[in-house]
This record gives sequence, C-alpha cells and structure tokens, in this order.
Amino acid sequence: MFDNASRRSFLAAPLALQVISTPSQAAPAIKTKVLGKTGLKVTTVGFGTMITSDASVIERAADMGVTYFDTARGYQSGNCERMVGAALKSRRKQLVLSTKSNKEDKEAALQELETSLKELQTDYVDIWYIHAKSKAEQITEGRLEAQRIAKQKGMIRFSGVSTHAGFEEVIPAAIKSGAIDVILSSYNFTMGATIDPLLADAKKAGLGIVAMKVMAGGFRRVKPGDPNYAKFKQEGVFPAMLRWSMRNPNIDTTIPSITDHDQLDENFACMDKGFSPGDATLLAVQRDFITPLYCRACGKCSGVCPKGLPIPDMMRYVMYAEGYGQFGMAREQFQMLPAEVREVSCKDCSTCAVRCPNHVNVMARMSRAQELLA
Ligand code: SF4
Ligand code: SF4
Repeated sequence: MFDNASRRSFLAAPLALQVISTPSQAAPAIKTKVLGKTGLKVTTVGFGTMITSDASVIERAADMGVTYFDTARGYQSGNCERMVGAALKSRRKQLVLSTKSNKEDKEAALQELETSLKELQTDYVDIWYIHAKSKAEQITEGRLEAQRIAKQKGMIRFSGVSTHAGFEEVIPAAIKSGAIDVILSSYNFTMGATIDPLLADAKKAGLGIVAMKVMAGGFRRVKPGDPNYAKFKQEGVFPAMLRWSMRNPNIDTTIPSITDHDQLDENFACMDKGFSPGDATLLAVQRDFITPLYCRACGKCSGVCPKGLPIPDMMRYVMYAEGYGQFGMAREQFQMLPAEVREVSCKDCSTCAVRCPNHVNVMARMSRAQELLA
C-alpha cells in the first residue's frame, strides 16, 4: 500500500526533538503515498496549520520528514500563510504546500492567490483548493476557470476542493467536473458508511484524497493541567482517531491540526502503527463522550433558531475554544457577530426549538458559547 518506508535517526533532528524524546527510542517509520494522479508524494501524516501559532513546530515537522503542509488565505486573518511561508521558505522545493481561496469571482480569486504566493514566499503552490464548499453548485465555472488560469501561469500545480459538510454533493460534483485533482474532506471516526463509497469513487477517478478534521472536534475528557492528563495521554485516544482515518486505503494523507511539539510527536508516530482493536475500544468511549458536544457542521440547524442565532457558526467558535483550546480565535470570531446576536441568551428559552439530528445538545452548547465568548 505504501510506496516508501524509511527510518530517520533522532540524532539528525533538532535539539528540541532530542529533549522531548528519549535517546534510546527508535524513530518512527516515515510512510508516504502518492496523491492520486498528481504524482505528488506525501507523508501519510501531514500538517494542518489553521490553529498553529508556533512556527518552530512547523519547522521541526519539516526537519522530521513531514512533507505536506496545508494552510488557507483566511486562516488567522491572513497571518497563518505568513508564518508558514517564513517557516518553510528554506526547504520549499522539497515540500508539498497547499492553500485555499473562498472567492467566487475569477479575478478576485486570482488576486487572492497572488497575495497567498507573496505571503508564502513562493512562486507556486502545489494544490490550490476552492475553500469549504457544501453544495455542488458552489463549484462554479468562475472558480474552475481561476484554477485553470492559475495552472497555465504556473502559479499552482494542481486544483482541489475542500468540504466540511455536504460531501455527499461536493465529492460527486468534483469527480464529474473532470477539473479537480484533489479532494480535501472532513473524515473521522464519527463518519464512515456514507462517505466511504464516495471516497472510493474519487480514488477510482484518480483524485488524490486528503482527510481533515480527523480529531472530531478535539474534545478531551481530561484537559492539560489535570492530574489525570498523563494517564489519559497514555491511553492514546487522539492517535487512535488519526489511525482510524489512515486505515482507509483511499485516504492518501491526513492534516491534523498541530499546535505544539508534543502533538507533533504523537501524530508523527502514527505513521508507524496500524489501527488496533484497542483503538476501537477507545473510540467507542470517545464517541459517547463527544456526542452531545461535537457539531458535525451539517448545517441542518441553519436558520432554525427563532431568535436568529447562527447555530453552526457559534458551534464552531465554542469548538475552537473547548475542543482545540483556541480561546482567543474563538472570542475574536464571536465578537464579529452582530451585537443583537451576541446579546441573545439561550438561558431565556425554556426549551430549545432546535433538534440536532446528530444528537448535539444545542441549548447547552450555545449557552456555553455565550458564557465563554460573549
Ligand atoms: S448542531 Fe447539529 S444540526 Fe446544527 S450544524 Fe451541528 S450537527 Fe448539524
Ligand atoms: S435555546 Fe435554542 S431556540 Fe433558544 S435562542 Fe438558543 S438556539 Fe435559539
């Protein structure tokens, strides 16, 4: 299944790696796959930079041998691309780098790509994604034309589309377009039956497949600082989630969010170990834990709140804060909501008018968002 497996010595890694790892540990094997018909060779664990604020983690990942890094023009108000560009500039040619644009207008998208290239300090990106689409009609001719022009000009090598929700429409539409080279889709242990046949179709059509949101919201039963945290980490529920995604032969690579060196080590080691029955047990427990918390961004509650609350957006903000530990980002985005929305309190409703098909406790989560972020 894998076309490469090699071992690297920790002695060759930077000092930080040696401090975190014991010298007697063998380095985990690095595994790579080819990203569909693009021919790009990528490590099966890549690096999602959306919430990374420490450039040294990105640099060290590249030193360790991770070859795929993903960002977007919109991440961290544009600062993410700048950080990624500075961190990876010296080894750009050895890496696969992707970014994304949300612009619908062809000229605006191309202009945004120019900004991305400048911030990333590179002449081209390997994959340029149409960002976060949930409906087939959002893969517009204008967006595809921008990708075609960018390819002709050598600004991008391959085109892609990313989808958080609505993959049922977006993946078939991407295949049908004949113009998309790579699909970047949410894919985690809470999904499976519906999406797996679509991923198989995409693979058969020669598309590369990248999995994101592999940590299903990142919710931890025990937080850092809790006396039981070390024990919880040993259980390895997060590596189990990553391995669940990697076990699907149609997934070429994964881009877990990585914010610190511990997470980098934990994820990196997943290239070396397959999904086990023990992992399945951990995930069953985690599934019970996250069910009332984890919004799958299906959008089915959009426009349902009689008081006009944008539930999917607020769910995302509270997940940034509590799942990924990114309180600053969560509050910044919450504070951009209109004042009349920020002033609503779900505690004033005796019952919530919204029923989530994925069993999220909407009233409790919205109240938590207001408590933390208002
Ligand atoms: S709260 Fe439920 S219905 Fe609303 S977007 Fe999330 S998963 Fe979908
Ligand atoms: S409790 Fe439900 S119905 Fe009431 S404001 Fe909150 S989201 Fe809307």
